[in-house]
Amino acid sequence: MLKPARRAVRGAAIKFIADPWIAGPENCLQYFEDAMIAIDDGKIVAVGDAREVLASGYIGESTWIDHYRDALIVPGFIDSHTHYPQVDVAAAYGEKLLDWLNNYTFPAEIKLRDHSYADKIARLFLAECIRNGTTSIVAFSTSYPHSADILFQEAAKINMRITAGTVFMDSFVPDKLARSAVAAYDDAKFLINKWHNNGRAQYSIIDRFALTSSREELEMVKQLKEEYPDCFFHTHLSENTDECKRALELFPEHRDYLAIYEHYGLNQSNSIFAHGIHLSDDELNRLAKSGAIIAHSPSSNNFLGSGLFDFKRVSDYGVKVNFATDFGAGNNLSMLKTMDSAYKTAQLNGFSLHPAYAFYASTAGAAKNLGWDKWVGNLEVGLEADLVVLDNRPTTLMAWRVAQCRSIFDLLFIHMIMGDDRSTRAVYINGRLIYVDGSLQLV
Ligand SMILES: [Zn+2]
Repeated sequence: MLKPARRAVRGAAIKFIADPWIAGPENCLQYFEDAMIAIDDGKIVAVGDAREVLASGYIGESTWIDHYRDALIVPGFIDSHTHYPQVDVAAAYGEKLLDWLNNYTFPAEIKLRDHSYADKIARLFLAECIRNGTTSIVAFSTSYPHSADILFQEAAKINMRITAGTVFMDSFVPDKLARSAVAAYDDAKFLINKWHNNGRAQYSIIDRFALTSSREELEMVKQLKEEYPDCFFHTHLSENTDECKRALELFPEHRDYLAIYEHYGLNQSNSIFAHGIHLSDDELNRLAKSGAIIAHSPSSNNFLGSGLFDFKRVSDYGVKVNFATDFGAGNNLSMLKTMDSAYKTAQLNGFSLHPAYAFYASTAGAAKNLGWDKWVGNLEVGLEADLVVLDNRPTTLMAWRVAQCRSIFDLLFIHMIMGDDRSTRAVYINGRLIYVDGSLQLV
């Protein structure tokens, strides 16, 4: 006799069964009209058609069942590049990347010198992630080590899967934000010992971008990555044409932007490069070879006028692509709105982005690329139960359109184009119901 699960979630659901680039978008997922996901000790212990799971022995009298109608259960979203200190710059008017950093972002990040302000911002940010159905994040903090420590602490309180770290930047930033390479190295080492593989946290060695790092600093980043090869490396790459030009003015000894990071051993399979819009064929080939990830952040790219990332071209090169908000230049923390922006960006490049690609790059595919697929990203037995329940009727207009759906792909497409935070009916983190019907259950 099986031990009954503590909790089960019932409703329509999808799970990915293949990579859409290999199997084709129409063949990569399984749809259950009436699924049941049995959860015990934070993990999925059974998933499938509700009648089969009910008969399996995992559902007993003591199992609490949450049944959602007019909804779709999907894996919790993974945001693969975001900035928690940028709450104060969402919807900051009128600039492109380099002026936007100087005029808005750096002043906002300086405010996090105050520990209590950083704590307030971290809590607001994480609550907003959850309200949008995001259960795992790949996040920047800022150059103050306490700003990373606070984010890890707040994420640990809700048991959220996270990778973050303090940010190396020693050049061309305000004095209050600059930190010497040696100090940043020591900060990172302390935080790695405290947080790397602590619960659901992993450490990322973060360099803001080559434009704000000296050669000495990049040497320290290299040394740290060599000492801790299983920590992610996270940075920005080729977001804006002025930025690309400036990178090569500062580092004329390198043939292109990516080569700067490569020189310091930072183009690896666990490297995450945000944006990657203006890359040459040669750079894409080198990224494909290393297995590094590009975090595609279309809402941010549109907002800052940075350019049109060519999802199909980059994917055809075999480069791994995850979706990301890049909040606060992306002005919201919604992965659904990110998918909407990705679709529109792809359209402008002559490619109609199928919803299977978009959801995959925000869930199972993102997890696979990050090496997190042994933990999250799908509805599979053994995985941590990070789930989002999407409301099929969050607005009158969506309810009308959903009533006309003829396939699961129609439904997914309506969610990705019309959905936002109102779409989130419930969120489970590691099996715990943390958000339901507009209310955060943080205690
Ligand atoms: Zn960014």
